[in-house]
Amino acid sequence: MSWFHDLETELDRAPCAAVVAISLPHLRGSIIAGGADFGEAVVHAIIAGLEDRFDGRLVSRSWGQEIFAVISGVSRLEEISKLASTIEAAFDEPFHCMGRLLHIVPSIGISLSPDDGMTFRELLSKAQIAADIALHPGNGTQLFAGEMAENFHRAAAIEDALRDAVANRTLTLAYQPQFDLNMGRFSGVEVLVRWDDPHLGPISPADFIPIAERSGVIPRLGGWVLSEATRQFSAHGAAASGLELAINVSPRQLVDRGFVFEVEEVLDTSGIRPEQLTIEITEGLMLHDIRATSATLNEVRSLGVRTAIDDFGAGFSNLAYLRNLPLDQLKIDRDFVKHLRRDPRSRTVLDSTIGLGHGLGLQVCVEGVESVEQFGMLQSLGCDLAQGFYLAHPCAIEQLDGHMRADYRRITGIADAFDDGTVASGLNDRVDAGPG
Ligand code: C2E
Ligand code: MG
Ligand code: MG
Repeated sequence: MSWFHDLETELDRAPCAAVVAISLPHLRGSIIAGGADFGEAVVHAIIAGLEDRFDGRLVSRSWGQEIFAVISGVSRLEEISKLASTIEAAFDEPFHCMGRLLHIVPSIGISLSPDDGMTFRELLSKAQIAADIALHPGNGTQLFAGEMAENFHRAAAIEDALRDAVANRTLTLAYQPQFDLNMGRFSGVEVLVRWDDPHLGPISPADFIPIAERSGVIPRLGGWVLSEATRQFSAHGAAASGLELAINVSPRQLVDRGFVFEVEEVLDTSGIRPEQLTIEITEGLMLHDIRATSATLNEVRSLGVRTAIDDFGAGFSNLAYLRNLPLDQLKIDRDFVKHLRRDPRSRTVLDSTIGLGHGLGLQVCVEGVESVEQFGMLQSLGCDLAQGFYLAHPCAIEQLDGHMRADYRRITGIADAFDDGTVASGLNDRVDAGPG
């Protein structure tokens, strides 16, 4: 590959240099619309713009939709930030190309020679890893750091193993009960996916779900969770007892119209009533395609299924979602309860957020309830549902029955046991007459 050889030679000449990888993910659409010649012309225009800004210190080549450059004489950290802003500035103005105007958002990664490696191959790979991290919204230009390579290789290993786990159905499911504060009893469960890989060990969904989303595995994974959770829920008698089931759904699943058919199918085959099922979506990820998400949620709701916004208040909180999305439930992130005891402002924030949910006609659930004090405060704040380790830990479907009975007795202080029947029905009958 001559581009590789050219840049390698350039690097060999410089005692210290920066290797830059610029990825142009959004160019693909323009190339499809304008043709390959157009794409090539754009890349050339970018390279010319970059070379102009560096007065002969930058040598640059392209490979597909990526641009690589060696910039000689770069060493100190201040120089790096200047260099990054000079490269970024080349993309500030739209490019005029073959009679069109194009605004390009690049993701830029930088590695340093000799600090990050001795060979061009190694430095290029590190600059690409940094550019990959720069792809995530809000990250900006990235200078390679040691842990990036570690994280990158771990993410690659997780991605491969996850494909196998989904294909071979070796993921499992855990169910965490939710306590209805108005009724004084457990009223439903949230299903959470679990993965214990034979080589990588147990991996949290908080780590592998984002990888599944990025790598396109999520529709298959999510489809399996939906059908397997409803099957188990029904087979173990939980559905017949009237217990509700909440399932986490990635926004990536919701932009696919087929999702509504999947839901219809599982309702048909499992016998779960639509109103027993809640679809939880995490707000941060919905930013991309709110119109498609909203359309699918509307269709799901027209089946009678309920919808919830998950982790409300974490990350990219956006109040506009509450106004624009067809929702039934607001799930407040566990960060809101964490400091409830120590910080009176936390109580005010939580109180207002519960009020906001109620004002919009939504049922309000609070997550991450870990102590009896927090639980008590939620009751006094008029919260509808609570979930957390104080109330019940996630468990396998086979254990759900026994765990819910034991947890209910502990919470309400009822000492006598339920002696027969399936847990949920036994529990609910008992509890209806119970604590008040
Ligand atoms: P989430 O939907 O907000 O689920 C609640 C998470 O909080 C679960 O973590 C649960 O184990 C944990 N949790 C429950 N009570 C407490 C508590 O009192 N304290 C603390 N510190 N944590 C508590 P988990 O199972 O690790 O799941 C993490 C996230 O992964 C979930 O957050 C959800 O966003 C995602 N996820 C899990 N299963 C699925 C799935 O099947 N599909 C999709 N798309 N996402 C899933
Ligand atoms: Mg959830
Ligand atoms: Mg949550």
